[in-house]
Amino acid sequence: MADSRTFTARCVFPVTGPPLPNGTVTVQGNTITAVEAHGVRAADEDLGNVAIIPGLVNAHTHLDLSGARGQIPPTSADQFTDWLRGVIAFRKDCTQLQVKAHIRFGLAECLNAGTTLLGDISSDGASWDAVAAAKTRAVVFHEVLGLSSQRFQHSAATAVRWICNGHPGTATCSPGVSPHAPYSVCADRLPSLTAALPLLGNRITVHLAETKAELELLTKFSGPFVEFLTELGAWDPSGLALGPTQILDATRAAKHALYAHCNYLPPETAFAPNQSVAYCPRTHTAFGHSPHPFREFMKRGVRVCLGTDSLASNPDLDILAEARFVHASYPDFPGDQLLRMLTIAGAEALGWGSETGSLEVGKSADLVAVPLPDREAADSHELLFADHPGERRTMFRGEWRD
Ligand SMILES: [Zn+2]
Repeated sequence: MADSRTFTARCVFPVTGPPLPNGTVTVQGNTITAVEAHGVRAADEDLGNVAIIPGLVNAHTHLDLSGARGQIPPTSADQFTDWLRGVIAFRKDCTQLQVKAHIRFGLAECLNAGTTLLGDISSDGASWDAVAAAKTRAVVFHEVLGLSSQRFQHSAATAVRWICNGHPGTATCSPGVSPHAPYSVCADRLPSLTAALPLLGNRITVHLAETKAELELLTKFSGPFVEFLTELGAWDPSGLALGPTQILDATRAAKHALYAHCNYLPPETAFAPNQSVAYCPRTHTAFGHSPHPFREFMKRGVRVCLGTDSLASNPDLDILAEARFVHASYPDFPGDQLLRMLTIAGAEALGWGSETGSLEVGKSADLVAVPLPDREAADSHELLFADHPGERRTMFRGEWRD
């Protein structure tokens, strides 16, 4: 049996319990065997002026766009379709070899930030090999596109074949499907895809209510998306959802359903316990959207986790930087809730909540040592979310990543 090792540091944040100043985490093999207050157990190693927190969860990214950093600057919110045109043009210019290189680059950046679980949307599953081989947990969502019934069925069949023929899931990597967005999928066909999910990893994610223009399209069949879809030869109003609620209803049966952005979703919208929101704070701000309703969702008990989105709209793939941005933007938002968004909420949203997302006995030894500033603070979360440089050390399944 592997030796057990006990680590201490300035503060241990179990997430599912209060912070433990100078507490300890004991790891045996790949599992956490104890999380204790200071003085209960002697430590084998003192990591110093750092916070020990669970491995971070980046619940929404697109690694295959990692070559686009700085090349498609976010537009104003009402010019979003112009930004989408830029993304499509960028994708057309990339060879498969380039896409693979972009994925490896983006993955390395995610891991370097302390991510131990990521939700990656992959247009054709191309990220699977790199992600499944990496020292991380992940859900690779195969994208599904098609506003017409015929196109949707073809795309969905491709995703199903991809999962069934060689990507059924490993100990650390699960497949999922991502019907792209209400303006690009046939809502009437969604339930048939959702019904097949028990055989396909049981995880689904959809971009939802990202822009006002999307809602205008769904409620009035008008606005900039009509021209955009017509240009692409994809305009088919017969497949359009009748508002975001139809998308939520059509995907409710999935065991784990995650909706990205929800920038303009009314916060009173009904969510089931298996349905979660992925909020991408810096991308949200880069497009100049109205303030995000994450606090209103959370007050109602809706699970909200964090994502970086891709390097096509975000400066980096550092998910802790997203949380620090939220802290700087909303200093009164409770630090313990923000830490949950960064860890256990994402793990539960992606269907890995029983394995990771908190420092608890029996869970995978996935943790990050985050350097802290030297000063004192009444609330230790304040130190964790202060903008502070320094190398983070990450342990995944009991092994330090170096
Ligand atoms: Zn996205």
